[in-house]
Amino acid sequence: MDLKSIKGISSAFETKLNSLGIFSVENLVEYYPYRYNIINLININEAIENEQVTVKATIVDVPKVQYIRRNFNRMNFKVISNNIIFNVVIFNRAFYKQNLTLNQNIVLVGKYNRLKNTFTASDIKFNVLENKIEPVYHLVLGLTNNNLIKFINEALKNNLYYDYIPYIYTEKYHFINKLEAVNLIHNPRSIEDIKASSLRLKYEELFDFMFRINYLKKINNKSKGLKRDLVSDNMASFMKVLPFELTKDQLEAMQKIYVDLKNENRMNRLVLGDVGSGKTIVATYAIYLNFLSGYQSALMAPTEILAMQHYESINKILTNFNINVALLTGSTKKKDKDLILEDLKEGKIDLLIGTHSLISGNVKFKKLGLVITDEQHRFGVNQRNNLSDKGLSPDVLYLSATPIPRTYALTIYGDLDLSMIRTKPMGRKEIITKIYKENDIKDVLYKMLEELKLGHQIYVVSPLIENNGELDLKSVLELEEKFNLAFKNQVKIGILHGKLKPKEKDQIMNDFKNGLIKILISTTVIEVGVDVPNTTMIIVYNAERFGLATLHQLRGRVGRNDVQSYCYLISNKDIERLKVLEASNDGFYISEKDFEMRGSGDLFGNKQSGEATFKIANLKTDYEILLRAKMDSEEYLEKELYIDNEYYQNIINEITFIQ
Ligand code: ADP
Ligand code: MG
Repeated sequence: MDLKSIKGISSAFETKLNSLGIFSVENLVEYYPYRYNIINLININEAIENEQVTVKATIVDVPKVQYIRRNFNRMNFKVISNNIIFNVVIFNRAFYKQNLTLNQNIVLVGKYNRLKNTFTASDIKFNVLENKIEPVYHLVLGLTNNNLIKFINEALKNNLYYDYIPYIYTEKYHFINKLEAVNLIHNPRSIEDIKASSLRLKYEELFDFMFRINYLKKINNKSKGLKRDLVSDNMASFMKVLPFELTKDQLEAMQKIYVDLKNENRMNRLVLGDVGSGKTIVATYAIYLNFLSGYQSALMAPTEILAMQHYESINKILTNFNINVALLTGSTKKKDKDLILEDLKEGKIDLLIGTHSLISGNVKFKKLGLVITDEQHRFGVNQRNNLSDKGLSPDVLYLSATPIPRTYALTIYGDLDLSMIRTKPMGRKEIITKIYKENDIKDVLYKMLEELKLGHQIYVVSPLIENNGELDLKSVLELEEKFNLAFKNQVKIGILHGKLKPKEKDQIMNDFKNGLIKILISTTVIEVGVDVPNTTMIIVYNAERFGLATLHQLRGRVGRNDVQSYCYLISNKDIERLKVLEASNDGFYISEKDFEMRGSGDLFGNKQSGEATFKIANLKTDYEILLRAKMDSEEYLEKELYIDNEYYQNIINEITFIQ
């Protein structure tokens, strides 16, 4: 159903909704709240100083608006509530003025100052008197929570819904029905409503997800790939060109890949290992074997910077074997690009490195035998489709630097074979990690100075506070000022934040890479895999805001050569949790701790696993439900209970078709 069929949705609103991924009325109904405001109406007499409260009131005097400066206004009016008359002040809500008429009943949210008899409101509500639990949705600028509440409730009137939970499991768990769940999730009357509806909706998504994984696993085990003539001498000739000994886990992963490629089963392998554990060599070996058997390879990285880094390090090894490597990114010139595409089609290029767009579009290989994808970007159904459209069934190798506990990996990557690299290359120094309180920042500045004197570079991560979708850069600029003061303006500082254009970002990254910039302040998590070996210190402000796994990944930005590196976590809170990082440099150990402490917590850092994006379920926190869904969907598949279920039958047909 078309969004425009909903009362109140104009073209302008439609565009806003589209940017949230909402394109139809069905999407709108499934745009679930990410949290709720519990509105507890109180008597104004009970308002506690400086605490946010919600009170009902009646307007007794029309509002006056003062325009103080551009984008800044202040509105005053008087209300009565429980026989007390008091002033209300609210900023930047002049647009409410016409709705605030004499004798109108409203609900005020904000803080009451008894002495001044003034209520500073942060919000005014006009019709929440019945519903005391208010859903809160992710928004974009120009679309308010109230807009969404209105639109969604209009959409709910259409009673649109599909129920994907097989009947036997609805029975087994006594789930409420879908229509009821969808209505309750948007309009809960109690916490119980939220629990019952979200449990049901999450289970539904996770069942669907695990059903696909289980089915993929089943057919991956049988799916035919390429058969290659390989001999065990291949390993020895590869190792001859390496400047180091391989670790035990690297060797084991390579052995497995050798077998995968040699036999005719299609390879679907995930190599999981910490940053710096040496996954690139393992992947390079796969490319080498694939080359020996006469096929081309493709390697896809999540960003151009990473693609470039892969190109440099892999090419260095592969030139020894006269393997022809090319790099194709958005910044490749048209002329060069045409040449690369031509050579690729003719089979003159043996390995093409680029971003994930490689596999789509007009890139044609002569004989593609192996696809490697870096950073757990899984092939979704559509991408596999792309490959089979080209008549290809290459082996696939996934690399991921997000260490997660083995049992967990076996669930969510259940369709893949797993190689874990736990052992670190020899001679690598542990990164010294220390927690500092904000008050002790002088000590950190001193340590920074020492590193700078040695000619080393420093990352500083400072998370931004987001205000209605707008980023507040103030804190970062203050930080820059602090450093300039401490280092007497002698040190060049760069700031990387989400609002920069790609060109500006690249410029800053390049300046940092080339050593022009000495301190790089980043407001987001630094791109996974960015490699500037001269950086020997990373400082994370408000470290408590990050999960352990994310912090560990951040720490992995340093310690990339044999010089001692440091990681300083600055925080006044949550010290016990952060101490795990002081104690260990082992990503798998940390992820296990994280798992124990916060459920499945922060296993993926900021990202969801690959392309699996859920409307309500969260792989990070809904582990219990995930396990249920895994067991049930296995049973459903094994006992062939899906036979008369059209929805799951379709999933099977779709997946089978594209394999
Ligand atoms: P990852 O891709 O897992 O983050 P890399 O493959 O980039 O890690 O390896 C990090 C660094 O360690 C590279 O410079 C690589 O050459 C080096 N390296 C890899 N394996 C070994 C090893 N067994 N011994 C010593 N150094 C190694
Ligand atoms: Mg094979």
